[in-house]
Amino acid sequence: MPDGRVSPERTVWVLGDQLNVGFSALATASPATHRVLMVESRAKVMSKSWHIQRAHLVICAMRRFAEQLRADGWHVDYRRTSSLAVGLREHRAEFAPVAVEVMEPASWSALNMVRANDCVVVRGNQFLCHYDDFGAWKADWLTGRKTFKMEDFYRWQRRRLGYLMDGDQPVSGLWNHDAENREPPPKDAAGRWPAPLVDDLDDLDHEVIAELRPHCVGDDPIGLWATTREGALRRLRHFIDVLLPGFGPHEDAMTTQSWHLAHSMLSPYLNIGLLTPAEVCDAVQQAFDEGRVPVASAEGFIRQVIGWREYVWGLYWDSMPDYADMNALNATRALPPLFTGGTTSMRCMSTVMGEIREHGWAHHIQRLMLIGNLSLTAGIDPKLLTDWMWANFVDGAEWVMVPNVIGMSQYADGGIMATKPYASGGAYIHKMSDYCKGCRYDRAKRTDDDACPFTTLYWDFMMRHQDRFVRNPRVAQQVRAAQKLSDIDAVREHAVTVLRRLDAGEL
Ligand SMILES: Cc1cc2nc3c(=O)[nH]c(=O)nc-3n(C[C@H](O)[C@H](O)[C@H](O)COP(=O)(O)OP(=O)(O)OC[C@H]3O[C@@H](n4cnc5c(N)ncnc54)[C@H](O)[C@@H]3O)c2cc1C
Ligand code: SF4
Repeated sequence: MPDGRVSPERTVWVLGDQLNVGFSALATASPATHRVLMVESRAKVMSKSWHIQRAHLVICAMRRFAEQLRADGWHVDYRRTSSLAVGLREHRAEFAPVAVEVMEPASWSALNMVRANDCVVVRGNQFLCHYDDFGAWKADWLTGRKTFKMEDFYRWQRRRLGYLMDGDQPVSGLWNHDAENREPPPKDAAGRWPAPLVDDLDDLDHEVIAELRPHCVGDDPIGLWATTREGALRRLRHFIDVLLPGFGPHEDAMTTQSWHLAHSMLSPYLNIGLLTPAEVCDAVQQAFDEGRVPVASAEGFIRQVIGWREYVWGLYWDSMPDYADMNALNATRALPPLFTGGTTSMRCMSTVMGEIREHGWAHHIQRLMLIGNLSLTAGIDPKLLTDWMWANFVDGAEWVMVPNVIGMSQYADGGIMATKPYASGGAYIHKMSDYCKGCRYDRAKRTDDDACPFTTLYWDFMMRHQDRFVRNPRVAQQVRAAQKLSDIDAVREHAVTVLRRLDAGEL
């Protein structure tokens, strides 16, 4: 090497969602023995119509991470090539490393790719529960039992990791504070939750935006999403100090007055390594220990991270590769125009689609009970929806999309992830939001031109799948209620019109 250092003989390959020096392959390597390889793949950039804020986040974060590693003394071979495999091949041709080590990738296809290319795959530490340990927990849990649920896994994680625990029991005496965390939006929602942090864009940001603009959708980045660890840590502190105390109660609420409410918006950083789940949960525990946040908010958040997030990760690896192709309800509808730039008079859907266009993000209940719910009851192909969400959310990734979309939101796995389909009519949306007031549609109507499409499609969905759902104790009552509706024939007839108008972009 030009500066007289010994040339490293080995390579550690850092993938675009492994941007953390504490991650196993990098943490066990050193600049004296290892060169770092990073590959920016054109095939990946061109593989979908990405939201520009998503693509910008990953590419800027990769380039900045490479710069940081260089400043820390690493030799970084940063390649911009047609594909990951080509980048690896070119690196080997130039440097002939004795071995290329890589932390277990986060997707099934990437794991197969690194294995097929003779990389040394190092056990990952990006999650608190490795998927092998999830598999072992599941096997153990199912000894003498028939089912396993997120709640069972979550309690095991709480005990094992010690968050919000007093010995073997939860610190508040309750494992679950969901009942306190389901409040509708408050009337004075405007300005109640401080605006997210926004940083100035620099030359690299502008350069990447110019490169990506021709291939991408959505509004340009404005500095909302941090592309460095330092920026992500600032956002973590902002969340803990300012938002966490009020996180719990309105976790499920939706309002036109605030697109972010008290949500952390930390998922993109957790998913690419700028933050780790342990440091995020440690920060919550510390704030709780110092008496700065109520237990319902602390528990509500810890549940999301060590419960839902890790459960989804375990389930993905437990059920792939078949999971991504499941379609238990045989849903085949194409994505309607309102997903791809079309307009709609449904106030709830036009609000959330506008927010996604602007920020590349929507919160959980908007994903599940608006976009997911409409797709489920309309019978949209779950694979198309998965792909759309993956491309349009800043925090998208296959491991998190497949269980959340195919499983939780579309019931396409036949009930592995969720014990009932998350379908609702306008009544639920009205209860949890301020969308319905001022909407062209009437949430209480199921027929007529101004009937709420959610309400009509909900009843039609229950009837369409009555044979399956009447056998599910968690939904049987709703199916029977649908069967007893005096106007059910008219509702089903109206549903045909609603679906035709949805397809034509006329809802
Ligand atoms: C249909 C659908 C699609 C989704 N797609 C994604 C996705 O592409 N990427 C993604 O990270 N999350 C996804 N989620 C989960 C969840 O909606 C987002 O993690 C969350 O909205 C991100 O915002 P936040 O960071 O403010 O979350 P908060 O409400 O502040 O929650 C804290 C953290 O918990 C984790 N979390 C909570 N629920 C889940 C869950 N079900 N699965 C995984 N992590 C969870 C996230 O890391 C999140 O940052 C999806 C959920 C649904 C129903
Ligand atoms: S009435 Fe129906 S379509 Fe309109 S905002 Fe309410 S739920 Fe959405």
